[in-house]
Amino acid sequence: MQPYTDSADVVHFIGGKTGRGAGERTQAVFNPATGAPARRLVLGDVADVDAAVASAKAAFPMWRDTPPIRRARVMLRFLELMNRHADELAAIITAEHGKVFSDAQGEVARGIDVIEFACGIPQLLKGDYTEQVSTGMDNWTVRQPLGVVAGITPFNFPCMVPCWMFPVALAAGCTFVLKPSERDPSASLFMARLLKEAGLPDGVFNVVQGDKVVVDALLAHRDVKAVSFVGSTPIANYIYETGAKHGKRVQALGGAKNHMVVMPDADLDKTVDALIGAGYGSAGERCMAISVAVLVGDVADKIVPRLAERARSLVVKDGMQADAEMGPIVTKQALERIEGYIASGVEEGATLVVDGRGLKVPGHEEGFFTGGTLFDNVTPEMRIYKEEIFGPVLACVRVKDFAQAVQLINDHEFGNGVACFTSDGNVAREFGRQIEVGMVGINVPIPVPMAWHGFGGWKRSLFGDMHAYGEEGVRFYTKQKSIMQRWPESTEKGAEFSMPVAK
Ligand code: NAD
Repeated sequence: MQPYTDSADVVHFIGGKTGRGAGERTQAVFNPATGAPARRLVLGDVADVDAAVASAKAAFPMWRDTPPIRRARVMLRFLELMNRHADELAAIITAEHGKVFSDAQGEVARGIDVIEFACGIPQLLKGDYTEQVSTGMDNWTVRQPLGVVAGITPFNFPCMVPCWMFPVALAAGCTFVLKPSERDPSASLFMARLLKEAGLPDGVFNVVQGDKVVVDALLAHRDVKAVSFVGSTPIANYIYETGAKHGKRVQALGGAKNHMVVMPDADLDKTVDALIGAGYGSAGERCMAISVAVLVGDVADKIVPRLAERARSLVVKDGMQADAEMGPIVTKQALERIEGYIASGVEEGATLVVDGRGLKVPGHEEGFFTGGTLFDNVTPEMRIYKEEIFGPVLACVRVKDFAQAVQLINDHEFGNGVACFTSDGNVAREFGRQIEVGMVGINVPIPVPMAWHGFGGWKRSLFGDMHAYGEEGVRFYTKQKSIMQRWPESTEKGAEFSMPVAK
């Protein structure tokens, strides 16, 4: 696959048309592998949000009244186009995010899964029905779309995370305004064009590029009925509170610190592979990355040297190169933040087993690269344990037994994903039962639920009641209505003043 080199400005997509909108600010979008600006992004203004929401609002009655099966057919055509153009989209992601191309292909595939799920919307929207709740009377429930809904997404999955939201919302009959990340915005426009090509009517899906200005305008807009957010915990918290204050339904998925418990009876070869892939894949910039290995009993002395050897030999280079295992970090600021955390770990007394700092990739000296870092003897008071680093830094914590491992994890402020590697079925079962985390893997390091199961963490990893996509997603974008019906054949006459009961 050729690298993505388009240098055209990244603009908005409103009412079926691309345009620069009203905002006058722009900012550079970098290629993290070279460290050079690759194109410019226009940053939207309040007027652009108003235009996008007005366009979505105008399109809503027509789209809501379009039979679900016809909405599903648009999704089916979109699915076909996404499959056809998957590699182009993956190259766009690698160019702006930095992740290796095969990982970007995986991200697109997981996004496509949700589109496929959304194609089943006629079945998912079926209500329930009770005949004869009283003589001559029936009662049923339907789910109707909310109206205009917004999605605000992070840099680390510029295709997959928007796909957690808009395919389900559109299939359910909502119209949508997407505010993608400023770091890697081009995937959003690519998908907007494919939606139009699939036959989605203008105005049903809109993209407003930008930053906090656009987010705040969406949160305050009276015609936006719900907001789906994915990003860091402080912003998720802010989105949840602000959205709720403006009367909106909000789901705000936040940050993470995902642990993997390694029991003494785990298969060590598989465990090492799993920890290396889940800790350093996508340079640790995944909300489901494993950032803490919880090593139980005597397993630490056996596994740490093997992890060190593998972390030292990671192939770190431009993500478009076929043998790359890890690409660059998304921005220079993020790289500095990550390397700052490594310094703090050293200061706080953790054992720095492998130091990835200061890595230079030949031919890409200005790229935002760091190598894989491994710490041992990390303790719960340290910042590198408590806070989300969001980089290729794996922290090993040693504990004496299973109960201590569970307690450690349950005490952490985040509860997104978790894994336990063991060959004991009872340990596995108890782990699944006792752990206070939303997504659990048993001998599965990154247990991202499939499209029909729904995604969401616990504690400060999710603000709101409903998980993303799956049936929870359908519920999020619709509201339930109950209808009771009686026709003139019914025998009752006159007003009734007591509470109606079944007759
Ligand atoms: P971020 O919170 O910086 O940005 C997310 C979105 O919020 C972007 O669209 C950004 O423009 C907007 N934003 C940023 N600052 C804002 C502000 N002050 N006011 C209003 N809007 C603002 O997150 P990021 O760095 O793009 O993504 C990485 C984070 O996302 C990590 O914390 C990661 O764990 C999290 N994440 C979570 C999940 C999940 O499912 N729980 C999935 C992916 C990423």
